[in-house]
Amino acid sequence: MSSAIQNLQDIQARIASSESRAKRQSGPVNLVVVSKTFDAAEIAPVLETGHRMFGENRVQEAAGKWPQLRSRFPGVELHLIGPLQSNKAGEAVALFDVIETVDREKIAAALAFEMKRQGKQLKLFVQANTGKEPQKAGIYPEHLGDFVQNCRSEHGLKIEGLMCIPPAGEDPAFHFDMLARLADECGVDKLSMGMSGDFETAILHGATHVRVGSAIFGSR
Ligand SMILES: *Cc1c(COP(=O)(O)O)cnc(C)c1O
Repeated sequence: MSSAIQNLQDIQARIASSESRAKRQSGPVNLVVVSKTFDAAEIAPVLETGHRMFGENRVQEAAGKWPQLRSRFPGVELHLIGPLQSNKAGEAVALFDVIETVDREKIAAALAFEMKRQGKQLKLFVQANTGKEPQKAGIYPEHLGDFVQNCRSEHGLKIEGLMCIPPAGEDPAFHFDMLARLADECGVDKLSMGMSGDFETAILHGATHVRVGSAIFGSR
């Protein structure tokens, strides 16, 4: 058995135990296996276990491996978890099922246009910059409600959830709680938060999706 498979099983067990500690039913937390930088041959064994939810952070990189993997393994749900440029919106809509990083008006408009043109409805999350870090993507907390409202009313987008990446070196729980509160305020119920180092904390604070890469595939 490859070490990625052992790691995957270990992460799945830790998710289940966090679900029960969080007193939630087992199953509602979705594991997005982050496969960025790993090639198709390394990802295939994970698909062979039956796992189908994956995350990539670059459109170009995903384009180089996922069309072939999808044809071998039906039922994949691929999440874009990295920043999207509007000139890549068409390609992103064609490649992905979920975009977790809607973070500005121009992207909202481009996604609305492309989903209509391609006749394909993606699930969308808005990225929040809970730590207000200038170098990081995402909507600042005080603008989040208006932004989500605008996505709905101006672009007809259905926003399903919020996503965040807490600042390095800060207590992630503070940011997870903030994201949960923001989601409540804007009426969405999915929360993508928690990575290899803090996904258990995220589940205790209400995550519905955790994004785990290095704890499964090893360091990049
Ligand atoms: C790379 C990445 C992850 C996974 O990080 P690990 O620490 O390797 O689990 C999660 N979310 C985003 C947005 C990423 O870019």
